[in-house]
Amino acid sequence: MSQDLALLVALQETDRQLAECQTKTRQFAVERERIEADFQSRIAAFVAAQANLDAVRHRLRDLEIELAQFQAQFNKYTADLQRVRNQREYETAIREIDMAKKSATQCEAKIAEAQAVIAKLEAEVASYAPDIEKRRAEMDAALAENMRAEAAYLAEVEIIRHQRREMEAKLSKTWLTNYARVSKLRGGQVMSQVINGACSACRMRLRPQVHSLVRQGIGIHTCDNCGRILFYRPDAEAPPAERASLEKAAAAADS
Ligand SMILES: [Zn+2]
Repeated sequence: MSQDLALLVALQETDRQLAECQTKTRQFAVERERIEADFQSRIAAFVAAQANLDAVRHRLRDLEIELAQFQAQFNKYTADLQRVRNQREYETAIREIDMAKKSATQCEAKIAEAQAVIAKLEAEVASYAPDIEKRRAEMDAALAENMRAEAAYLAEVEIIRHQRREMEAKLSKTWLTNYARVSKLRGGQVMSQVINGACSACRMRLRPQVHSLVRQGIGIHTCDNCGRILFYRPDAEAPPAERASLEKAAAAADS
């Protein structure tokens, strides 16, 4: 096999690894999402209780503002009572004072109710805490391990990229251009091994003369049918006897 052909075969292997890299990098990200989703589902009850607690605390603040308003009304009408000039004004002030007092009492009851709910929810949230901490620690550890593995993998990929650049530098410009062209045409599958006299990618049988040259490693040849660059490895071919039985088996499977 010529040096150029050996480089082309190596280049193809490198590109196969780099194509895998995209899939693998995506897998790392998918795995991280899975770890986080798993954590979220495990702490769903905690999150629900916490959201409930936040909502009731918010309501308590509103009720406290309302109570302050009723108390301000009560104070105002109590002051008004000192300045009444007739029976009608007196009755109005008394009625407003009663209403403010009643509203304040109702509001206080609601506040007490909210406070009781808050105490209960606080206890519930606190009861989840130890488990949450454990799960959070587990998630953080799993994420760190994922990132470490990804970084190690990307370092390996960087080495492969470096090797590819070295191969490119050694390869003749003509074959480098050809390689890129066929790669674009054939979805990255540039090289095709010749097995039993045929192009293994498209199954087209080689012309006897081309087959002979490819076998001897003389020159670089492309498949007449698919245009891929052909290479030959003696170890890939089955011995004649075995080949015959394989072909027979294939024929039987087809029928
Ligand atoms: Zn072919």
